[in-house]
Amino acid sequence: MPKPRNYQTESIIIKKIKLGEAGRILTLYTPRLGKIQAVAKGVRRPRSKLAGHLELLTHSLVSLARGRNIDTITGSQTINSFLPLKSDLQLTSYALYATELVNQFTADNIENYPLFDLLLETMHNLCEGGDNELVLRYFELHLLDQVGYRPQLQQCVSCHSILKPTTNSFCPSAGGMLCSNCSQSQPLTYLLSVNAQKVLRLLQNNDYSIASRLEINPELSHQLEMVMRNYLKYLLEKEIKSAVWLDTLREQTRQETLSQIAPP
Ligand SMILES: [Zn+2]
Repeated sequence: MPKPRNYQTESIIIKKIKLGEAGRILTLYTPRLGKIQAVAKGVRRPRSKLAGHLELLTHSLVSLARGRNIDTITGSQTINSFLPLKSDLQLTSYALYATELVNQFTADNIENYPLFDLLLETMHNLCEGGDNELVLRYFELHLLDQVGYRPQLQQCVSCHSILKPTTNSFCPSAGGMLCSNCSQSQPLTYLLSVNAQKVLRLLQNNDYSIASRLEINPELSHQLEMVMRNYLKYLLEKEIKSAVWLDTLREQTRQETLSQIAPP
């Protein structure tokens, strides 16, 4: 049976690029169709009715018409505009980081409902005003689960012994932790304190309702960020563009805070 010419899907707008004079090609992440590309004609015109419903980081119900090469968006209704994510630069950078990772780790037209759910949950969590670093670490670990790169955090990936409660190393190329014996033969590893290992395991094995109760000091938070960043970078074989922006904004905030504490 041929597929119907028109269809509707929930989606999160995760990427946009300009097309011609007034159009865009949008990347949508959907619950049942995975990642899809679609043309939005005329959305860059000031009076476009569609434009507001097709902003980046918007959760929308989108109507599409099938095309030979690419489908065209014929209508869109906002389900959640996630305004807080658009009105605060720092939150924007966190949310774009999450959508960029979803984009990088997925291929077109492959359904992954749990991943859609995770992205949506992450956008909600970022709007809650809690520890946003924790939101991202939780997101990264569960994303890796969904795309088949769950890091091994319970036992040594080389000798398979259960890890002792001591400083152990994370090895990106081996996809998990190494015990102190095995890590000696591996040059590119990251030392993780007992606490860092505990937090990563807790994040990996629990829902966000439990994970969100964690309180993490800045030093530990930084350690977790670095190990995850390096693992993701290794898997993608490149820098994560939005992570660079995220770092710049954070550094600005830090400088501003410093100058408020000790005016020059
Ligand atoms: Zn070992």
